[in-house]
Amino acid sequence: MGHRASFASSFLSIMPAIASSKSYRVGRSKTGLGLFATMPIKKGTRIIRYFGPILDSKIPAHDAIENKYLFELNGRWTIDGSVRKNLARYINHSCRPNAESDVRPRERKVFIRAIRNIEPGDEINYDYGTDYFKAYLKPIGCKCESCEKKRKKLRAEARAERAKVKARAEARATKKAGAKGGAVKKKKLNGKHFAGKVGRARA
Ligand SMILES: [Zn+2]
Repeated sequence: MGHRASFASSFLSIMPAIASSKSYRVGRSKTGLGLFATMPIKKGTRIIRYFGPILDSKIPAHDAIENKYLFELNGRWTIDGSVRKNLARYINHSCRPNAESDVRPRERKVFIRAIRNIEPGDEINYDYGTDYFKAYLKPIGCKCESCEKKRKKLRAEARAERAKVKARAEARATKKAGAKGGAVKKKKLNGKHFAGKVGRARA
C-alpha cells in the first residue's frame, strides 16, 4: 500500500512537467519538415524526448555509424535519433529558439523543453549548438527565422545605401550641369522659372 502510494506520488510529480503527447505534430516547414505545436505549450514544459539506440564510441561498429540525427551526450555516448519513432528528429535548428535540449548524460536521455511560451501553430526549434552550426549550417547559410530576418534587414539597409549613393550622384550631376549652364544655379538663387534667361543674359 505504502509502496503504491509512493509510486503514485512520484508519478504525479513527473506528470505536470511532461506535455501531452498531442502537443505537437510533424508538418511542412520552410526547410522541409518540422515539428509544430498543436496547443499552447508553457515555458519550462518538456515537449518531447529525443530518443534512439545508445551508441558507445568505444565500440568500432557504433563509432562507424554516421547520420545527421546523432545526438552526442558526451565523449562516449551518443543517441542515434534516426529511428522513425523519434519524432523529435524533425525539430529544426534556430538561432533564436523557443525550446532547448535538456541533456542528461548520466541517464542517457535528452528531452526537448520549452524555454518560451509556445503558441499553437508555432514551429518548435532549439539551438543545435556551435559545432553543428559551423559544420552544417554556416556553409549553406542558416535558414532559421532569426537569420532570415537578419538577412532581410541587411538587404533593406543595402538597398537604402544604394538609393542614397544614387541620390548623391544625381545631385552631383545636377549641380555639375547647373555649373556648366548656369541655369540651375541661378534658378536656385532667385527661385523663379525665368532664372535661366537671366543667366544667359548675363553670360
Ligand atoms: Zn539561424
